[in-house]
Amino acid sequence: MPNSEKQAEEILALESIFDHKFHLFNEHQYEILIEFDLPTTFTIRFNDKISLIQYLPPLSLIINYHDEYPSDEPPSFILSCFYFSKIDLIKLCQKIDEFSFIPGEVCVYDWIVLIKQEITNDFIIGTDFIEQENDPRALNGYIVENAEKIFQNLIEYNQRREDDLFRTQLQTCSICTDIIPGIDCIRLHRCGHFYCRSCLNNYIRITLENGKFGENLHCPENQCRQALLPTEVKQAIQNDELYERYERLTLQHGLESMEDIVWCPR
Ligand SMILES: [Zn+2]
Ligand SMILES: [Zn+2]
Repeated sequence: MPNSEKQAEEILALESIFDHKFHLFNEHQYEILIEFDLPTTFTIRFNDKISLIQYLPPLSLIINYHDEYPSDEPPSFILSCFYFSKIDLIKLCQKIDEFSFIPGEVCVYDWIVLIKQEITNDFIIGTDFIEQENDPRALNGYIVENAEKIFQNLIEYNQRREDDLFRTQLQTCSICTDIIPGIDCIRLHRCGHFYCRSCLNNYIRITLENGKFGENLHCPENQCRQALLPTEVKQAIQNDELYERYERLTLQHGLESMEDIVWCPR
């Protein structure tokens, strides 16, 4: 079978395995977005900070076919991943170079298996590496100065994915036990507890009537002392007059608790 046919066959196979994670640019070039299979207790670390996450952004592998693949040489490739350090991405390129290529046999799927083995346990955002030689095939690896930003980016990415999933699933309001679509719930930013709008609305009205506002207007969950954000209060009550009252009380209270401020007697 000529090389061109073997290449076309490999493209078909990869397309069916990776589906919408496979992007064909032309008959010689394509990209595969590789997702890592994370265990449920997967953690990322940066210095002494630890965060439990479920999702990592995909790593991008771009493959370039040439006339000698697969009869003589492996294809050329580019790896791109913003949360791998530059040095780790270069090492990963070298690992692919060391893969024992068998002339005549396609190898891209085996490369992907090899790449996936890079992240199986927890993941550390490194801060103590020295940048060495460059490799034009290693794109977007982070440099030491950006390590903390990368850690934050990964936490935010995970949060977005979790939010997306939450919105598409049915959820149970823990106050009224109604089952409603996640998209109709109000999920509190600070603690992640969620309620249907009408329960949260009732709760806020009663709490405000009892003279609690600002930091004292907290999540209804027992033991949870996380204060509601003003945007959450607004979203739940959908009543301008009541919201203005809440805002006024909260602001006034905030000012009173600052001892340096003297109230204008007028
Ligand atoms: Zn409810
Ligand atoms: Zn809560």
